[in-house]
Amino acid sequence: MEAAADQPYHSLGMAEPQRKAVALMSGGLDSALAAALTKRLGFEVVGLNLATGFCTGQGRCDTVLAQGLALGIPVRLLDVSEEYLEVVKHPRFGRGQGMNPCLDCRIFMVRKAGEVMEEEGASFVVTGEVLGQRPMSQHREALELVARESGLGEKLVRPLSGRLLGPTFPERMGWVRREDWLDIEGRSRKRQLELAKEWGIPVFTQPAGGCCILLERAYSKRLKDLIREKGVDSLTKDDFALLRYGRHFRLGPRTRVVVGRDEVENTALLSFPGDHYVLSFPDVPGPVALVLGEVGEEELRLAAELAARYSDAQDQAPVRVLAQRDGKTTELWVVPMAKDDPRLRKLRIDR
Ligand code: SF4
Repeated sequence: MEAAADQPYHSLGMAEPQRKAVALMSGGLDSALAAALTKRLGFEVVGLNLATGFCTGQGRCDTVLAQGLALGIPVRLLDVSEEYLEVVKHPRFGRGQGMNPCLDCRIFMVRKAGEVMEEEGASFVVTGEVLGQRPMSQHREALELVARESGLGEKLVRPLSGRLLGPTFPERMGWVRREDWLDIEGRSRKRQLELAKEWGIPVFTQPAGGCCILLERAYSKRLKDLIREKGVDSLTKDDFALLRYGRHFRLGPRTRVVVGRDEVENTALLSFPGDHYVLSFPDVPGPVALVLGEVGEEELRLAAELAARYSDAQDQAPVRVLAQRDGKTTELWVVPMAKDDPRLRKLRIDR
């Protein structure tokens, strides 16, 4: 039974909800400040970080844990990557400049936080959203839409802009006054940086570059291309993961090549699961390349010439390439494509 907004819980014979909140924490400054403010207002706070599989930035989880430690907030890390794929594949509210489905993403995350809120016996969810900070997902209508579509309504609280937004559950309960929330608005980060010093937020990830790889132009191009080839419904977690690595080329409607750009990517490509050719260079330093899809002799040779362009083989000198698939190895001798070969540009998906 829900208590009416103006009716005290004890008059209904119900225990008062716990003064406890779940705070979504991304590793950024705003979400850490929102959690910190909630704690300073006397609430018990549990931090929640959701790993979508599309996050960028090294050590994001470590950052959230360090913030939790500094603020005296326990943090839960939750892998939601399987469920999140559906959000990326079929956003209801469109995408941003890249393939980023920001509104659906926010709704999904807040809904997840709502589930954790129930599990934790908490009463509301806190996010670091700031009114007017991001054009697509943080204007007033968008914030209201997320509250409505997530099902949380007034139990979704944005403490950094709380004074500028509608009433919240903690206010209705008489736990806080309207003035306890902040009135931060817009893109400037000045006030947040001052508060970070004042409240002792030790580390935070930088907003530059964005919080997820779906914002990136090159990744978005690769994803669009793959959707054209396979159709969005058949894309797997591995398909999305492979789009993170290497230079991508399209050799035919059903044939792609991915060429590693450095040792880290080469290692990742070598261990990539699935049925494809793995190209390598036994005689000279060179990249690892995967050839995926329908691969005949002609495509394999073209892929080897292309990959050889990124090896240390001299221009025009034939080089040996090993192509492995299903435990079988094929040896090819190819002349590396010239650096100014127009095919390089034409075949590149993510240029
Ligand atoms: S940028 Fe990525 S992680 Fe951030 S809200 Fe948009 S889709 Fe979600």
